[in-house]
Amino acid sequence: MARVFDPDLEVVADFALVQAELARGRATPFLLMDSAVLREKLRRFRAALPRVQPHYAVKCNPDPGVLRVLYEAGAGFEIASPEELALCLALGVPAGELYYSNPVRAPAALAKAAQAGVQWYVVDSREELRKVLRIHPTASFYLRLHTSNAGSVSPLSEKFGLFDDQVASLLDEASRLGADLAGVTFHAGSQCLNPHNWLAGIAAARQVFAQMQARGLCPRLLNLGGGFPVQHRSPVPSIAAIGAQINAALADLPADIRVMAEPGRFLVSDAGWLVTQVIGRTEKRGQPWAYLDAGVFNGLLESITGIDYDMRSDRHGPLRDWVVAGPTCDSMDICTRQQPLPADLAEGDYLYVRNAGAYSTACSSRFNGFALPEVVLV
Ligand SMILES: *Cc1c(COP(=O)(O)O)cnc(C)c1O
Repeated sequence: MARVFDPDLEVVADFALVQAELARGRATPFLLMDSAVLREKLRRFRAALPRVQPHYAVKCNPDPGVLRVLYEAGAGFEIASPEELALCLALGVPAGELYYSNPVRAPAALAKAAQAGVQWYVVDSREELRKVLRIHPTASFYLRLHTSNAGSVSPLSEKFGLFDDQVASLLDEASRLGADLAGVTFHAGSQCLNPHNWLAGIAAARQVFAQMQARGLCPRLLNLGGGFPVQHRSPVPSIAAIGAQINAALADLPADIRVMAEPGRFLVSDAGWLVTQVIGRTEKRGQPWAYLDAGVFNGLLESITGIDYDMRSDRHGPLRDWVVAGPTCDSMDICTRQQPLPADLAEGDYLYVRNAGAYSTACSSRFNGFALPEVVLV
């Protein structure tokens, strides 16, 4: 029986690879991605969820090298834009194996996907169903349901998802239009610490499958979305424990329903060290401040959306709580007000952010003229 919280399952990219890059003179900030960890995370996901085909959410870290490692190890992909489509096509992924999981797309984006041969499109409104059919009359669809995001660090259910009382009319519309509406998806919320969200989504999907059959639609896809968590400073449910619960809920699902998921964070976060340097330090009202060459705008956006990054330095002295800020002139650029770091941390020191491969470089901008962290895949 897998323990629910299992800190022993921690995975982290090999720090010797970071040291080797610095010894070669690599300038900070950079994101070191360890391809062995990418493969290991994919292996763990499949071992925990044998019936579930992982389609990596490209937005989480769209580095072409990262995509290639995951593709060669057997992952599929979930896309949200023409740019992500192009990245997957450039890798050689057959368009028919891609899932367009962004519920609202521009007509021009849909035209590109249709022309490339993308078959599967998510919808959560009648308007989008009609829009896709206008551009791609033989498309296949999966419904995005609104389900619980309780206990996830980044809820995603406000913007997308069909509420219970909207489902019937969308199904009616699909059967009236002869659309191949054949699947259901949901998103448990990113960094989801509550396995019940997947169970609730699966239960809701089963009800919708029955409603589909009653209308002559032919359900054959269950997409469990993403949300699988990774460890930063506190333990999270292990993938084995989450998997055990999901597998039990899938046990009597008919064999002709294909089950997939869209893990993003789970596959790439642990593979990355974000390497930064302290460019200044000061003391304000009794608290030490460290300013880094990477911050909220260039690598550490998620430090302000609830991710409690583990930051380390080369020093080993007694710890104090530091305020850690980025290099820009925006006061929003404060990553954390409570980061335990050695009291003698100094300008010029490196600061290493552990498990930073997800939504880091992917969400960086050049705001204020600061560099994007380079991705170094080894
Ligand atoms: C962002 C996203 C994912 C990935 O979520 P994670 O929390 O990183 O696993 C999967 N599916 C969809 C539709 C998304 O928008």
